[in-house]
Amino acid sequence: MAVVLVAEDDQDIAVILSRLLTRAGHTVLHEPDGLAAFEHAVAERPDVVLTDLGMPRMDGLELTRAIRRHPDLADIPIIMLSGHLHPGDTKPVEAGCCAVLLKPCPNDKLREVVQELADRGPHTHTANGSCPAHHPVNA
Ligand SMILES: [Zn+2]
Repeated sequence: MAVVLVAEDDQDIAVILSRLLTRAGHTVLHEPDGLAAFEHAVAERPDVVLTDLGMPRMDGLELTRAIRRHPDLADIPIIMLSGHLHPGDTKPVEAGCCAVLLKPCPNDKLREVVQELADRGPHTHTANGSCPAHHPVNA
């Protein structure tokens, strides 16, 4: 069980994700844009961050970079979930994401990746951003 911060501007998807993760036993925090999610992360350090790519004010890549640069948040596992990425797109991984999932992502896959990163817990990425727990896109 983990505290999962969901950054998602689509309210319908946010509700679906919240329900799915709550049923899996996690506590879900939700913010509708990247900046609000970053401020929430600073205030209440979550165990895992699950972020969309395209969002107002601060997108998922900017949010990921901001977390990785923050001394108290840098080691939090981050998952990017997006419908606007191509398999093999390296930007999320370079920004510091641990896993990249494409929408629509099967529920069991999403639960599995969240659980795996929650179990692994905080971990340091190498200087070039790569993650020791790194998952390729939807793998
Ligand atoms: Zn990682």
